[in-house]
Amino acid sequence: MSLDRRKFLGITALSSATLLTGSTHAHEIESKTDEVYGVLVDTVVCIGCRKCEWACNQEHGLSDKDLKSYEDKSVFKEHRRPNASAYTVVNEYRDPADSSKAYSMKVQCMHCNEPACVSACIVGALEKNELGSVDYDAWKCIGCRYCIIACPFQVPAYEYENPLTPQIRKCTFCHERVAKGESPACVSICPNEALTFGPRSKLIDLAHSRFKANPGRYHEHVYGENEVGGTSWMYLTAVDTKHTELPVLSAAPLPPLTEIIQHGIFKSFVPPLALYALLGLIMHTIGDKNEEQEVKE
Ligand code: SF4
Ligand code: SF4
Ligand code: SF4
Repeated sequence: MSLDRRKFLGITALSSATLLTGSTHAHEIESKTDEVYGVLVDTVVCIGCRKCEWACNQEHGLSDKDLKSYEDKSVFKEHRRPNASAYTVVNEYRDPADSSKAYSMKVQCMHCNEPACVSACIVGALEKNELGSVDYDAWKCIGCRYCIIACPFQVPAYEYENPLTPQIRKCTFCHERVAKGESPACVSICPNEALTFGPRSKLIDLAHSRFKANPGRYHEHVYGENEVGGTSWMYLTAVDTKHTELPVLSAAPLPPLTEIIQHGIFKSFVPPLALYALLGLIMHTIGDKNEEQEVKE
């Protein structure tokens, strides 16, 4: 993909004064840097309208078979996951100290800085784009589904209902829009500016400025700033993220682990089923270890 970073200078600017005070929730932040882009998801200001789901489905021509209406808030009673016909879903989490306080949380691919799905893919069908998205190439994909097992966020979905040409499906970070200098469809539609698109480092600055400007309103941790080596999509929450659906993960990137296993096993001609089992075991163990660590803290 040919990318012109200067196009981003045309993006609506968030003034540096606003960045410092954190008083405005802007959709987009101007970039003059040479770094990846990201989105800051502020679950404290998200109103759970599900317009982001609608915009994503429109943008990608998806028809979510389970969808009754975007107005239907009864969906929050269950915990949904992104799937092959819905790249993003909005769920709810509650304050453990006061269960009457509910917050909405949009979930999708995190577009990790060091993606485990990329390192697990043996044919290079997944790739981290220089603008931040983790892109999928259906022509290269052989349908092994190692990416599904490797992802610590359980994001990639397989089109089981498409027996002839099944593909891996996940949020694309609207990379075609981003390459043209536009923000992702979900960010553009968000009415309460719960989603902010911009250079990753500026989003981190913005997150910390919101903490400073709103004492007590946030759990002061930018989820994704460091987890698994950092992610392009990051979250602000009202409570400790261990009370949300975001998994407890250390700062250590996962790819070195998945790469060693993948290369070692393929050199030794270990059959695919054994690789599934081993990758699954590792991801399970990492999850358990992180949870144990969290309990000790
Ligand atoms: S469009 Fe924005 S406010 Fe509405 S649910 Fe999505 S993230 Fe929340
Ligand atoms: S969240 Fe999962 S699918 Fe998305 S980039 Fe990270 S490892 Fe890959
Ligand atoms: S970035 Fe694009 S593909 Fe990803 S959730 Fe938003 S609209 Fe959907």
